[in-house]
Amino acid sequence: MCIFCKIIKGEIPSKKLYEDDDVLAILDISQATKGHTLIMPKKHYENLLEIPSDELRRVMIVAQMVAKKINEVYKPAGINLLNNCGEVAGQSVMHFHTHIIPRYTSSDLKLGFENHMDQYDLDEIQKELKL
Ligand code: AMP
Ligand code: ZN
Repeated sequence: MCIFCKIIKGEIPSKKLYEDDDVLAILDISQATKGHTLIMPKKHYENLLEIPSDELRRVMIVAQMVAKKINEVYKPAGINLLNNCGEVAGQSVMHFHTHIIPRYTSSDLKLGFENHMDQYDLDEIQKELKL
Protein backbone atom coordinates (compact mmCIF):
# COMPACT_ATOMS: atom_id res chain seq x y z
CA MET A 1 0.00 0.00 0.00
CA CYS A 2 1.34 3.50 -0.80
CA ILE A 3 2.29 5.96 1.94
CA PHE A 4 -0.68 8.26 1.23
CA CYS A 5 -3.11 5.30 1.36
CA LYS A 6 -1.62 4.50 4.79
CA ILE A 7 -2.18 8.12 5.87
CA ILE A 8 -5.77 7.99 4.57
CA LYS A 9 -6.37 4.75 6.53
CA GLY A 10 -4.88 6.36 9.66
CA GLU A 11 -1.96 3.93 9.81
CA ILE A 12 0.54 6.80 9.55
CA PRO A 13 -0.05 10.11 11.37
CA SER A 14 -0.56 13.34 9.46
CA LYS A 15 -1.57 16.93 10.07
CA LYS A 16 -5.03 17.05 8.51
CA LEU A 17 -6.45 20.38 7.41
CA TYR A 18 -9.58 19.07 5.68
CA GLU A 19 -11.31 15.76 5.14
CA ASP A 20 -14.53 14.61 3.52
CA ASP A 21 -15.70 11.28 2.05
CA ASP A 22 -13.56 11.67 -1.07
CA VAL A 23 -10.72 14.12 -0.40
CA LEU A 24 -8.00 14.69 2.19
CA ALA A 25 -5.78 17.76 2.67
CA ILE A 26 -2.69 17.43 4.88
CA LEU A 27 0.36 19.54 5.63
CA ASP A 28 3.33 18.44 3.52
CA ILE A 29 5.97 17.12 5.90
CA SER A 30 8.68 19.04 4.00
CA GLN A 31 7.04 22.52 4.31
CA ALA A 32 8.76 23.99 1.23
CA THR A 33 7.19 27.19 2.53
CA LYS A 34 5.01 27.81 5.61
CA GLY A 35 1.60 26.23 5.01
CA HIS A 36 2.65 23.92 2.14
CA THR A 37 -0.29 21.52 1.78
CA LEU A 38 -1.10 18.37 -0.20
CA ILE A 39 -4.60 17.64 -1.47
CA MET A 40 -5.40 14.10 -2.59
CA PRO A 41 -8.33 11.83 -3.43
CA LYS A 42 -8.97 9.11 -0.85
CA LYS A 43 -9.04 6.52 -3.62
CA HIS A 44 -5.66 5.56 -5.03
CA TYR A 45 -5.01 6.85 -8.55
CA GLU A 46 -1.41 6.99 -9.67
CA ASN A 47 -1.39 10.39 -11.34
CA LEU A 48 -3.15 13.14 -13.28
CA LEU A 49 -3.66 10.84 -16.25
CA GLU A 50 -5.42 8.18 -14.16
CA ILE A 51 -7.75 10.14 -11.89
CA PRO A 52 -11.35 10.34 -13.20
CA SER A 53 -12.44 13.91 -13.97
CA ASP A 54 -15.21 14.02 -11.34
CA GLU A 55 -12.71 13.11 -8.60
CA LEU A 56 -10.22 15.63 -9.97
CA ARG A 57 -12.92 18.27 -9.76
CA ARG A 58 -13.46 17.49 -6.07
CA VAL A 59 -9.72 17.64 -5.36
CA MET A 60 -9.41 21.00 -7.11
CA ILE A 61 -12.36 22.47 -5.22
CA VAL A 62 -10.64 21.53 -1.95
CA ALA A 63 -7.32 22.91 -3.28
CA GLN A 64 -9.04 26.25 -3.83
CA MET A 65 -10.58 26.12 -0.32
CA VAL A 66 -7.14 25.46 1.19
CA ALA A 67 -5.56 28.24 -0.92
CA LYS A 68 -8.20 30.71 0.26
CA LYS A 69 -7.68 29.73 3.90
CA ILE A 70 -3.88 30.07 3.63
CA ASN A 71 -4.34 33.40 1.88
CA GLU A 72 -6.63 34.65 4.64
CA VAL A 73 -4.44 33.49 7.54
CA TYR A 74 -0.85 33.90 6.32
CA LYS A 75 -1.42 36.53 3.62
CA PRO A 76 1.31 35.24 1.29
CA ALA A 77 2.39 37.37 -1.65
CA GLY A 78 1.34 34.56 -4.01
CA ILE A 79 0.46 30.84 -4.21
CA ASN A 80 1.63 28.03 -6.52
CA LEU A 81 -0.62 25.10 -7.31
CA LEU A 82 1.62 22.27 -8.50
CA ASN A 83 1.16 18.69 -9.66
CA ASN A 84 4.10 16.45 -10.52
CA CYS A 85 3.04 13.71 -12.94
CA GLY A 86 5.69 11.01 -13.35
CA GLU A 87 9.10 10.47 -11.79
CA VAL A 88 10.91 12.66 -14.34
CA ALA A 89 8.52 15.49 -13.46
CA GLY A 90 9.41 15.14 -9.78
CA GLN A 91 6.63 12.82 -8.57
CA SER A 92 7.92 10.81 -5.61
CA VAL A 93 4.65 9.48 -4.18
CA MET A 94 2.66 7.64 -6.83
CA HIS A 95 -0.76 8.58 -5.44
CA PHE A 96 -2.23 11.61 -7.21
CA HIS A 97 -1.93 14.82 -5.21
CA THR A 98 -1.64 18.49 -5.83
CA HIS A 99 0.60 20.85 -3.87
CA ILE A 100 -0.55 24.22 -2.62
CA ILE A 101 2.59 26.24 -1.91
CA PRO A 102 2.22 29.74 -0.47
CA ARG A 103 4.85 32.17 -1.75
CA TYR A 104 6.20 34.84 0.54
CA THR A 105 9.04 35.97 -1.72
CA SER A 106 9.87 35.38 -5.39
CA SER A 107 12.90 33.31 -4.37
CA ASP A 108 11.44 30.98 -1.71
CA LEU A 109 10.76 28.24 -4.30
CA LYS A 110 12.84 27.35 -7.33
CA LEU A 111 10.54 26.99 -10.32
CA GLY A 112 11.98 28.29 -13.55
CA PHE A 113 10.88 28.10 -17.16
CA GLU A 114 13.46 28.76 -19.85
CA ASN A 115 12.23 30.27 -23.08
CA HIS A 116 12.78 27.85 -26.00
CA MET A 117 10.47 29.48 -28.53
CA ASP A 118 13.30 29.69 -31.09
CA GLN A 119 13.41 25.86 -31.24
CA TYR A 120 9.75 25.14 -31.95
CA ASP A 121 7.05 25.94 -34.47
CA LEU A 122 3.90 26.96 -32.59
CA ASP A 123 1.64 26.39 -35.65
CA GLU A 124 2.86 22.80 -35.97
CA ILE A 125 2.46 22.09 -32.27
CA GLN A 126 -1.03 23.61 -32.30
CA LYS A 127 -1.98 21.35 -35.24
CA GLU A 128 -0.69 18.27 -33.39
CA LEU A 129 -2.24 19.03 -30.02
CA LYS A 130 -5.54 20.81 -30.78
CA LEU A 131 -8.47 19.10 -29.06
P1 AMP B 1 5.74 14.70 -5.05
O1 AMP B 1 7.24 14.80 -5.07
O2 AMP B 1 5.02 15.68 -5.91
O3 AMP B 1 5.30 13.26 -5.30
O4 AMP B 1 5.32 15.10 -3.59
C1 AMP B 1 5.34 14.21 -2.52
C2 AMP B 1 5.32 15.04 -1.29
O5 AMP B 1 4.90 14.21 -0.21
C3 AMP B 1 6.69 15.62 -0.89
O6 AMP B 1 6.62 17.04 -0.91
C4 AMP B 1 6.91 15.07 0.52
O7 AMP B 1 7.47 16.02 1.39
C5 AMP B 1 5.52 14.69 0.94
N1 AMP B 1 5.42 13.62 1.92
C6 AMP B 1 6.06 12.42 1.89
N2 AMP B 1 5.73 11.68 2.96
C7 AMP B 1 4.87 12.43 3.69
C8 AMP B 1 4.17 12.24 4.93
N3 AMP B 1 4.29 11.09 5.63
N4 AMP B 1 3.38 13.23 5.38
C9 AMP B 1 3.26 14.38 4.68
N5 AMP B 1 3.87 14.63 3.51
C10 AMP B 1 4.68 13.67 3.03
ZN1 ZN C 1 -2.29 5.38 -2.50
